[in-house]
Amino acid sequence: MGEIADQHAATANGRALAFPCPGCGSAQRYAPGSGDLVCVSCGAHRPIAAAPGGIVAQDYARYLAEGERGAPTDEVRLVTCPGCGAAVSLPPEVAAQACAFCATPLVLDQRETARRLAPQALLPFGLDAATAQSRFRSWLGGLWFAPNALKKAARQEESLQGLYLPYWAYDSASASDYVGERGRHRREEYTDSAGRRQTRLVTDWFPASGELALDFENVLATGSRSLPGDLTEALEPWDLDRLQPWQAEYLSGFAAEAYRVGVEEGYAAAEQRMRQAIEQAVRQQIGGDEQRIHELRTRFSGTRFKHLLLPLWISSYRFNGKLYRFLVNARTGEVQGERPWSAWKIAGAVLVALIVIVWILLQQ
Ligand SMILES: [Zn+2]
Ligand SMILES: [Zn+2]
Repeated sequence: MGEIADQHAATANGRALAFPCPGCGSAQRYAPGSGDLVCVSCGAHRPIAAAPGGIVAQDYARYLAEGERGAPTDEVRLVTCPGCGAAVSLPPEVAAQACAFCATPLVLDQRETARRLAPQALLPFGLDAATAQSRFRSWLGGLWFAPNALKKAARQEESLQGLYLPYWAYDSASASDYVGERGRHRREEYTDSAGRRQTRLVTDWFPASGELALDFENVLATGSRSLPGDLTEALEPWDLDRLQPWQAEYLSGFAAEAYRVGVEEGYAAAEQRMRQAIEQAVRQQIGGDEQRIHELRTRFSGTRFKHLLLPLWISSYRFNGKLYRFLVNARTGEVQGERPWSAWKIAGAVLVALIVIVWILLQQ
């Protein structure tokens, strides 16, 4: 515990996040996809040493009983966005920055120290800025119905930021028992009012009850409130089997958002995901053509959590006073974005389609 506390204290003032190059003293940054730190001046590579101790998941029951004393915490230097309230840690060498989520300029000399639950693991950046930028350009190029002015503005921006988004991941063992009914379909013959023989589909119901045990691993819940849930969910899946123990080196050169959704709120979302999976498994176990579930009782035990950081490239841009965001999963390259539609272009396309239809009709 002493060692972990010291390690966290070392990052307390944010200075330790800058790794000076042993050769020339300039900042080193994590080079996406490499496992190395690279000097921004002389280009020297230095491999990141493996973290001692591996990934240690935290006991959820203990956290509930003891609060923040029940899990390791960390002091972080955060700057809070005056526009959307997102709190981020930034590389100390950054001189000016707009908020990654809402494009509001950040006041960098107003960094404050805050105590937060420490991350246990992360997925390091796999895609570099140039690759993400080219994904952004081809995504824009594919937006045929977007206003040209937007495409031009977004191209000029070139403002992709590399950012770690906060997540919670939960492991839990579930034991359920259920009471329900299995429905079997059958064709039945009958005579209709006109005296004709007909067949119809009927369902016969049989009692079904049983038990089910499901173990869950790494059920994700977002720790961020800065992006719409459907946008971050669309970035899934993440290759969580490749999680690395948290090390400050991987953050070097990148921003990281501090969580605003706590462990308990995250657990509620994760439990909902687990309950959906359990219900699906119960239906499968009941079998038949249809299922009814009258009672389903589930106990979760041995629940553990990890605070994770997952990497993305993000561009936020304003167009006609409205905010649009473009995201790239920096592991898989999955692209998601919010986009405006050009009313003129859509009207034009509809007109062209109508002309074509009229022309076809006139040929007949
Ligand atoms: Zn150097
Ligand atoms: Zn903001």
